[in-house]
Amino acid sequence: MTTDTTTTTEALHRAVRGTVHERGDAGFEAAHSIFYRHLDAVPDVAVTVTSPGDVAAAVTFAVEQGLEIAVRSGGHSGAGHGTVEGGLVIDLSGLADIDVDVERRTVTVGTGVTAGAVTAAAAEHGLAVGFGDTGSVGVGGITTGGGVGFLSRAHGLTIDNVLAAQVVTADGSIHDVDAEHDADLFWAIRGGGGNVGIATRFTYRAHEVGQIVGGLLVLPATPHTVAEAVRIVGEAPEQLGAILNVMPAPPMPFVPETLHGRLVIFALVAFNGAPEEAEPVIARLRGIATPIADLVRPMPYADLFAGEQGDHHPVATSTTGYAREFGVDDAAHVIDVLSAHLADPGVQMTVVQLRPLGGAIGRVPDDATAYAHREWPLMFNVAAIVGEVAQLEAQQGWVEGLAAAIAQGTPGAYVGFSLPDHPEQVHRIYPGSTYDRLAAIKRAHDPGNVFHRNHNVPPAAD
Ligand SMILES: Cc1cc2nc3c(=O)[nH]c(=O)nc-3n(C[C@H](O)[C@H](O)[C@H](O)COP(=O)(O)OP(=O)(O)OC[C@H]3O[C@@H](n4cnc5c(N)ncnc54)[C@H](O)[C@@H]3O)c2cc1C
Repeated sequence: MTTDTTTTTEALHRAVRGTVHERGDAGFEAAHSIFYRHLDAVPDVAVTVTSPGDVAAAVTFAVEQGLEIAVRSGGHSGAGHGTVEGGLVIDLSGLADIDVDVERRTVTVGTGVTAGAVTAAAAEHGLAVGFGDTGSVGVGGITTGGGVGFLSRAHGLTIDNVLAAQVVTADGSIHDVDAEHDADLFWAIRGGGGNVGIATRFTYRAHEVGQIVGGLLVLPATPHTVAEAVRIVGEAPEQLGAILNVMPAPPMPFVPETLHGRLVIFALVAFNGAPEEAEPVIARLRGIATPIADLVRPMPYADLFAGEQGDHHPVATSTTGYAREFGVDDAAHVIDVLSAHLADPGVQMTVVQLRPLGGAIGRVPDDATAYAHREWPLMFNVAAIVGEVAQLEAQQGWVEGLAAAIAQGTPGAYVGFSLPDHPEQVHRIYPGSTYDRLAAIKRAHDPGNVFHRNHNVPPAAD
């Protein structure tokens, strides 16, 4: 939906203390920029909000003007939901407070900060909130989606550590929510994506995480090594978190040149504990095969998030899911399919990312939050990164085919890794009673479906 906003943005200027950016303004680009290049879209107007009152005013303005709303925290949505063609981007980057309460072991943040910024601030006190594997992801998107990362097996998903939140709903009202106040909204904002409102603040429980043993371990990829790596991480003490990427070896200085482009397991590992405790656990991974590169060492947890490329905007397609089992035959199929695409000139990189889960994630009941996939021991992503948008379509078929083979009929998809929505995908993200409860909360708080630029659950019918 687009409208001539040139005369009407005056009302928005008057209503907010933050900055209103219109096409051509200096800050316009930054206020609606997103991670994925192929999903870029240009709004009519963007507003960088600085308070919950600004968010409420922006929502009210958009409703009055009939503008579609996109909510942008870190801009990393794989569906491009952080911006919109025409319409209004509510850019949360001005909600940038980070308050670490060392005594209570809590961290309270504005929802425009990145996971990396929170990690760095908490690390100054030997604390951490578990997010994912990438510092530039916004806390807004990862927290409303679930949050799967290195600390999840030990301490649960990001949402399992949310103690309270502040949420602006479609009527412009501001709610301070927790388990006792507006419990429905509190339930929905933990996993329900942006469906029920805009979170402006989160308070997280933090954990003692200072020095870890972690880093990169590169192993040769064979059906045996891949299946073993998944099994070993899944059975390891919960202090171990690992993300196993089966992918062509990048031309990094510590990878022998003869192996560049050959399939390897590019494993990112983090053991939250002393080196002597970590040693036997990491030794099992090292023992799978002679490592090609072994950079696992005692290090500050926050260093896992350092060294990100600043201005990287890939064009990619991917499919995500969960698996109940992953054995040698599954690994062999992954390797066969990836190998078949190694020489494809249209593809810059292919990867199958395997994330063994379990532990604390599974100890939270499925209906405790709007994330309903706690029983699965493995989450995966299949992705192809290409050079040009026109090359995307050609990759979609095999990416989806491989994902279906890994999932083996297992339903379920993680909202954080899901691509643009279609109804069937939304039901995989929010199965059964989770969908129904979200739809009912949606009817109560957003009957007009103002917040629909997300993996959308429309309001339940009366
Ligand atoms: C490189 C990369 C690595 C990733 N790694 C991980 C990982 O390890 N673990 C993991 O769990 N996920 C991971 N993700 C997925 C990521 O968590 C989701 O894509 C998430 O939505 C991105 O959040 P964002 O704030 O950066 O995105 P945005 O594009 O800014 O927001 C995405 C959507 O989330 C909703 N949203 C954002 N902020 C709010 C808010 N304050 N209130 C209500 N709704 C809001 C809106 O619908 C918004 O459109 C990764 C993504 C990328 C691109």
